[in-house]
Amino acid sequence: MTSLAHFEAIANALKLPSDAIIDGACVASQSGKTFANVGPRNGRVLNHVAECGATDIDAAVKSARRAFEAGDWRRLHYRDKKRVLMKFADLMERDAEALAVLESLDVGKPITNALKGDIPGSIRTLRYYAEALDKVYGEVGPEAPDRLSFAVHEPLGVVGAIVPWNFPLLMAMWKIAPALAMGNSVVLKPAEQSPMTALKIGELALEAGLPAGVLNVVPGFGEDAGKALALHADVDMIAFTGSGTVGKLLMQYSGQSNLKRVSLELGGKSPHIVFADCPDLGRAATEAAWGIFYNSGQVCTAGSRLLVQNEIADELLDRLLTVATGIVAGDPLEPATSSGSMASEAQMQTALRYIETAKREGGALTLGGNRTRIETGGFYVEPTIFDRIDPKATLSREEVFGPVLGVTRFSEADEAIRIANDTTYGLAAGLWTKDITLAHRAARELRAGLVWINGWDSCDLTMPFGGFKQSGFGRDRSLHALHKYADLKSVSITL
Ligand code: NAD
Repeated sequence: MTSLAHFEAIANALKLPSDAIIDGACVASQSGKTFANVGPRNGRVLNHVAECGATDIDAAVKSARRAFEAGDWRRLHYRDKKRVLMKFADLMERDAEALAVLESLDVGKPITNALKGDIPGSIRTLRYYAEALDKVYGEVGPEAPDRLSFAVHEPLGVVGAIVPWNFPLLMAMWKIAPALAMGNSVVLKPAEQSPMTALKIGELALEAGLPAGVLNVVPGFGEDAGKALALHADVDMIAFTGSGTVGKLLMQYSGQSNLKRVSLELGGKSPHIVFADCPDLGRAATEAAWGIFYNSGQVCTAGSRLLVQNEIADELLDRLLTVATGIVAGDPLEPATSSGSMASEAQMQTALRYIETAKREGGALTLGGNRTRIETGGFYVEPTIFDRIDPKATLSREEVFGPVLGVTRFSEADEAIRIANDTTYGLAAGLWTKDITLAHRAARELRAGLVWINGWDSCDLTMPFGGFKQSGFGRDRSLHALHKYADLKSVSITL
């Protein structure tokens, strides 16, 4: 049954979600305005989605605040909270194929990746935090004869979540699952390029029994709906994944409004280092390829800088080319497709611009470099590799967020670590070596929130995720994320 025809039939039968979800109801924007949601698979308009602005945001925040004050969610017994969140996850599982099709249509993601990665990953995240919520303990203070003191975790109140379009559902779930588990109300603002799965799960949350107003989903543009949410004086926290440019604005908005907390997961220019004593060059080549070409390079942790020690550089590059040549863009709804389209025409143009810049700056174009599948009307770019990229070149310094790899050769380990750290970003880094001392030393020296040794992207939701330097602060995933959505309150009883 898993054929292109099967997924096209699902797509044709689906009612594409287009209304905002505010105070437990599916509603149009108050202005009546909608925006055209373009599918990057073929460049055609998929649907017209409610274009929410400041008044809709205000309605959503008021509804979230009312729900929080009423306490139907916040004060619910932890067993019942868990039951509702588990039911929410079960409903997502029931509708997994529909969610995968919506994600694939919205951002051009291969349906198989959505079915095996994004959707089950989102469901696992929700279950993880549902399971964790009754394991959050407070502390009892030191014993004193005249006083009993304890510290408890209190939900923050109203959390605004602003998320990007590369993993729309997963990034949303990394925020809303721990925020809800801690008893907060949430206003979720999906990216304008990818509103559909967020709207769909807003409906599923209501079906699962989440009280009205506890999860609102408000689609709209960043500088309009997103800005209004971040400036709102009754929002206690903004949890954000996206670009550094917008991250900096969010900190300003916080200062201009109510000093709301801000948690930022931003971009990266992650180095992937292969030392000459790499234990498995074949695997390193495969993981270097997929480390940049997965999701058409639109991954914040993409291994976009491949640093290779001179002795093995030619061999690694040969193997890398063999893998990358086999990655051919196809129809995102075709189950055999491993590389889909870029998420939007704008993102495709950005990638093509960086390719031109790298050529101009003297990079050796070794693979790809072109738009492809133009006849479909969609936004596809070939996997592209530049060899002998200077560490000071634009391709080494700026995030492309597309399928473009820069290879830089080095001679000494310390040189590799220095080049790796010579960036304003600090999200992820990877390295391959048999030398345990070098592995450990490099792992500690690399200024990145995630370091992977002998396997790219090798940890899961049980481990904290986030960056150093201008890749942001605050962590998603793991139990640390729960505490991000809570305040500590000290209570003392005089005896
Ligand atoms: P973006 O910053 O342009 O947009 C992200 C979100 O912010 C969208 O919902 C957008 O509508 C909203 N937004 C835009 N302007 C706003 C404003 N003035 N006020 C409030 N909200 C506003 O980023 P993008 O292009 O959608 O996503 C790509 C970026 O996200 C890349 O830099 C990538 O590295 C980063 N990213 C980071 C992670 C991570 O976990 N660190 C994960 C995925 C993506």
